Amino acid sequence: MQTGSAMDVILVVNSGSSSLKFALYPAMGNQTEVLLSGVVSGIGVRPKLTAKMTGEPLAIKPPFDDIAKDATHASLIKALQERLVTEYSQFNLIAAGHRIVHGGSHFTKPTIITPESLQRLKTLIPLAPLHQPQSILAIDAIAKNAPELLQVACFDTSFHRTQSKIEQMFALPRALTEEGIIRYGFHGLSYEYIASVLPQYLGDKADGKVLVAHLGNGTSMCAMKNRKSVASTMGFSTLEGLVMGTRCGLLDAGVILHLIKQKGLSVDEVQKMLYHESGLLGVSGISSDMRDLQRSDDPNAKQAIELFCHRAKEEIGNLTAVMQGLDAIVFTAGIGENSAMIREKICEPLEWLGVKIDKDANQNGKTKISTVDSKVRVYVIPTDEEATIAKATRGFL
Ligand code: ADP
Repeated sequence: MQTGSAMDVILVVNSGSSSLKFALYPAMGNQTEVLLSGVVSGIGVRPKLTAKMTGEPLAIKPPFDDIAKDATHASLIKALQERLVTEYSQFNLIAAGHRIVHGGSHFTKPTIITPESLQRLKTLIPLAPLHQPQSILAIDAIAKNAPELLQVACFDTSFHRTQSKIEQMFALPRALTEEGIIRYGFHGLSYEYIASVLPQYLGDKADGKVLVAHLGNGTSMCAMKNRKSVASTMGFSTLEGLVMGTRCGLLDAGVILHLIKQKGLSVDEVQKMLYHESGLLGVSGISSDMRDLQRSDDPNAKQAIELFCHRAKEEIGNLTAVMQGLDAIVFTAGIGENSAMIREKICEPLEWLGVKIDKDANQNGKTKISTVDSKVRVYVIPTDEEATIAKATRGFL
């Protein structure tokens, strides 16, 4: 497969509703070594390449000189693939791994994309209408440019399929449960990564009762026992659970009925409100970005932070009850990895559970941020969803 001295590589693609993250990994060797990576954000509005390019030692140029205003996931993938041939001849692309938000009940592990599995992925579009179509477009775009290339789908829902049936059920009429209206849980690629590195930090306790808080733009928590998911705060969709950047989290279904029936909002208007105008943005009226809220003196910004932390505390209580105990908490993703203030605010009211934060360690960016006498250990561990995808894709080579 190696052409000349070119290095065999895997392209990892993470297609968001308006963003495209990509990364190149060696097909062999160290799973976290990234050769080149980037993010195009604002697709459909004002696309721009936002992320730094890695791989300076190889003097790699960014894969896009100029991003067209009307760029789509498909056109960007095409440009990237063309660049790989014309500009990056030191790399030989042998496989692509995709992050797929929804795998339904069927996909419990990474899967090679075939016409049959692609067809099945398309049937899941109604379950994730904002994300699934973009992932499928990316798969199609790659297949069009390189029909023989191995493509692998890695699912955000798979990690949670170890949950008990009861944990996955809503108390709805049975026929709906049977047709798949259940709690799927998301952010599974992030949780899988954290589960894979837990022994390095926790030793034997890695297989205990561990609560992982993925606090990014999207936020969720996962309760793990033996490094397997037993419960998660996200449910049928990516709306449920904690307060997010622009999503509401926990909401009485009666509110939705009220918005439609009494206030006369259309279903599309309600969808837009719940996905894009709620959460930190909706409560603060300022920003969905935690950094902006932390800097602000506005009382509404402060209230948004209070609500964010309050809901996190409530869900820690829930998940601890499900696990019947708590050995460790792990913070990860943008807010979890970077905001000492949020970590402290979430952990402080948990002293009754045996959580004691070492404030200096927390402020100073240490990995372990609990005190030596804390019954529950608390860690900050960076997540790496792309590394999980690269590893899974390598498994098929
Ligand atoms: P995504 O879900 O898009 O992958 P990230 O994991 O990158 O999101 O997290 C984005 C969130 O992390 C934003 O709310 C951002 O404000 C927050 N964040 C990043 N750095 C910091 C920081 N230093 N302090 C507080 N919040 C931060």
